[in-house]
Amino acid sequence: MNAAATPPRPLILRHADMLVTMDAARREIPDGAVVTEGPAIAWVGATAELPPVYAEALARGQAEAIDLRGHVVMPGLVNTHHHMYQSLTRAVPEAQDAELFGWLTNLYLLWARLTPEMIRVSTRIAMAELMLSGCTTSSDHLYLFPNGARLDDSIEAADAMGMRFHAARGSMSVGRSLGGLPPDEVVESEDAILRDSERLIDRWHDPSRHAMRRIVLAPCSPFSVSRDLMRLSAELARERGVSLHTHLAENDNDIAYSREKFGMTPAEYAEDLGWVGRDVWHAHCVKLDAAGIALFGRTGTGVAHCPCSNMRLASGIAPIGAMRRAGVPVGLGVDGSASNDGAHLLGEARQAMLLQRVGFGPAAMTAREALEIATLGGARVLGRDDIGALAPGMSADIVAFDLRGVGHAGAGHDPVAALVFCQPGVAALSVIDGRVRIRDGRFADLDLAPLLARHRELARTLYEQARHPHLS
Ligand SMILES: [Zn+2]
Repeated sequence: MNAAATPPRPLILRHADMLVTMDAARREIPDGAVVTEGPAIAWVGATAELPPVYAEALARGQAEAIDLRGHVVMPGLVNTHHHMYQSLTRAVPEAQDAELFGWLTNLYLLWARLTPEMIRVSTRIAMAELMLSGCTTSSDHLYLFPNGARLDDSIEAADAMGMRFHAARGSMSVGRSLGGLPPDEVVESEDAILRDSERLIDRWHDPSRHAMRRIVLAPCSPFSVSRDLMRLSAELARERGVSLHTHLAENDNDIAYSREKFGMTPAEYAEDLGWVGRDVWHAHCVKLDAAGIALFGRTGTGVAHCPCSNMRLASGIAPIGAMRRAGVPVGLGVDGSASNDGAHLLGEARQAMLLQRVGFGPAAMTAREALEIATLGGARVLGRDDIGALAPGMSADIVAFDLRGVGHAGAGHDPVAALVFCQPGVAALSVIDGRVRIRDGRFADLDLAPLLARHRELARTLYEQARHPHLS
């Protein structure tokens, strides 16, 4: 199945209890409507003010209308950090209770056995999970390519799912024998990494407005690649106009490693390598210091905030309020499924709000701010001005949540805040690139059951092989 095969009909979404626009005025429109034509939004306003031309198109059968009474409608959420292959290694007993470096060391043994099919199936399942949680655009950071796996495997999965996708070409080049963390069998040569990066940009990168596929260069972290590869990746990215992404300042050990190996804080190291600017975003930044926050604000360097992962690995509480006050672009990331075993992006917005309050008091983040970070914030972090808001000319990425169930009972006073304060729901409707992907809480043209069955088999195979390598 290729979701891009036929052009979509214009869609008229109307009678939303509340339409959250995230436009410049942050309008919330009661009994709202939004109309899409092709890949873009054509009209936004109150249902009563819908231009007659749309009623005429409906009467001629040239458009489709969906009534959304009882729903909140909003821009599709944007996920800025993930490792989708990890949906095969959730809740692995050996990695349940470790902090970052110990956790990684245990999991590398499994990941070294990934196959191209495992990448394709796990990426599709991870995308299905994200889409059901209201996400319409995601980045994915794939940084190991064992047994013939390629980034193309995850891009083809995104095509099959119809999801807007920023594929980050990760890499690791410093194995254990050279003082790095990963085992030698999962690292690549730096020449091969750069050659493959160029190939991927040539084959897949689309810089145009409403693009469904973009390539990002993303060495895994400062403790798994060389200084040279960080520099050369930045040069290549700027020559070709693609973004840069990596992990930075995740926890105290990460800071200690940076000081010991490079004699600098992670932010100083990033600046030294040319890894700051509007075309760069870093995951985590839990331990970004005041000078680092000022640097990121000054240069427009983005941060992918991953609160569930930070809690699961006991990394700490990222200073999101200080970052935003300094002008740092902040988006949300669910992070890989092995460090956040539940990848629900609206749930992540809820956790972001709650965790900021634990760290910095009850006024540290409002529900609306959490939603803004999850939409506009993520768009800015990915370097896009065509997603994250509902306004004419923006990409047609729209989600709706039904607030009539038990999880939102009694919260009608403020349905928008209820999206974040109450139990994170399943997206009732998801439109991506003007196409209905989820309708009534189910995929419109995809049977998940066989895909889930295969995913279960692959997860079992991967785990058993790593535990009993002599059997494989
Ligand atoms: Zn990560």
